[in-house]
Amino acid sequence: MTRRRKRIVIVGTGVAGSIMADGLRKLENAEVICLERATTEDHAEAGTGLNVGPNAIKALTLYHPELARTLLAESLPWESWRIELTGGRELMHLPLREVADNPGVRIRWAMLYQLLRQPVRDCVRFGVEAAAVRYARAGETGPIVLETVDRDARTDKIDGIDLLVGGDGRYSKVRQAFWGAPKPTMIGVCIFRLLLNEARPDLVDDYGQWFNGPNRLLAFRVPGDSTYISGSFPIPLDSDVSDDIKNADSLRQLYTPPEGLSAKCAFLVDAICNNVAHIHWARLQEAPVEFCDRHGRILLLGDAAHPMVPTLGQGGTQAIEDACIALDELRRAFAAPGEADIAAALRRIEARRLPRVQFAAGFSRDATDTMLAGADPVTGTLAKTSPEFRAKLARLYRDVSAA
Ligand SMILES: Cc1cc2nc3c(=O)[nH]c(=O)nc-3n(C[C@H](O)[C@H](O)[C@H](O)COP(=O)(O)OP(=O)(O)OC[C@H]3O[C@@H](n4cnc5c(N)ncnc54)[C@H](O)[C@@H]3O)c2cc1C
Repeated sequence: MTRRRKRIVIVGTGVAGSIMADGLRKLENAEVICLERATTEDHAEAGTGLNVGPNAIKALTLYHPELARTLLAESLPWESWRIELTGGRELMHLPLREVADNPGVRIRWAMLYQLLRQPVRDCVRFGVEAAAVRYARAGETGPIVLETVDRDARTDKIDGIDLLVGGDGRYSKVRQAFWGAPKPTMIGVCIFRLLLNEARPDLVDDYGQWFNGPNRLLAFRVPGDSTYISGSFPIPLDSDVSDDIKNADSLRQLYTPPEGLSAKCAFLVDAICNNVAHIHWARLQEAPVEFCDRHGRILLLGDAAHPMVPTLGQGGTQAIEDACIALDELRRAFAAPGEADIAAALRRIEARRLPRVQFAAGFSRDATDTMLAGADPVTGTLAKTSPEFRAKLARLYRDVSAA
């Protein structure tokens, strides 16, 4: 007797959703449909870069080696972490091999999305948004029903969904529909991002951070002769980012110490001041973790499951870990004899991911200490050279769950 194919709908093909789609579409007895609000051309985040942690590369190598190879081929290695003051004094230089089994990577968002989406484009409906989602009502084919809307306001309905994966990011519609909107905890820090179409590897190459008081610059070179620059500074807990600060003079003042900027930071600050109009602004925030519903039909991944602060570059990195572990468990469920027990697989995913994500989110929050109002970056950074901090970094970068 042939088994009925399980219908899996993935909402959002960002980091986690694309990896899930690529793994799940190869399963027998699974029909995979992906919805992506963005079109292939118009991703708002595509104008920046990111560093992906060594732990994500380790997880991909274990669970999706083909993608790990592609990612490594198209990116630059992230091998060291340097912290200085914006005047030039070095506070920390950590070769990542001392705390990780392999390097991480540096890449542009546009390239990352392209690499992740390319293999799955045939099963993605681009420009289509999940507008409403629910457990099936009387007369509907369940367990889950989803309504979509496209760019031309055409609507559609997908029913008979056995597994709904919410990979739809920080403002997840899937999460809101089943758990309500998460209440964010603000951290009191503004963070901005910029991709500069210029590289000066003699000044800025691998991952670096520069402090003037709690005001921090972060930058690294990415492929395509570009430099990713991020800046942060404290703001009142309950306020938006004031327009008064979004200009060249104010930003320059934030990062310039009495003794003047080092050559590296002069390059970064000039780039920021010349490109204020291209900056993406955000506020540091986090929200509680949710992975799956009690019926075992809905799985949240990445920012939808655990919006965390980006201080250690772990948001996208944990989204990759999530997808790897979820794939591992779902592959096992579909390979087992009889009907795939999706609910049991979701429980195992949560059991493997919850403690790990809570650790990564908590560690990221703690590491934000030097970016808070009144912080002293010198003592705060010295604490990051302690054996305790290094042991936690080693746990973060190495302890990827292997089964
Ligand atoms: C300032 C800043 C810097 C950061 N730097 C780093 C870094 O260096 N390294 C790192 O690892 N992480 C970093 N992050 C975090 C990272 O951006 C996120 O954690 C990561 O993108 C989450 O991946 P995801 O797959 O959960 O969601 P996303 O990658 O956000 O993907 C969600 C997808 O869902 C789609 N979508 C949303 N709603 C719908 C809908 N209703 N219907 C259909 N589609 C929908 C979106 O278009 C998008 O494609 C940073 C974040 C910030 C704010």
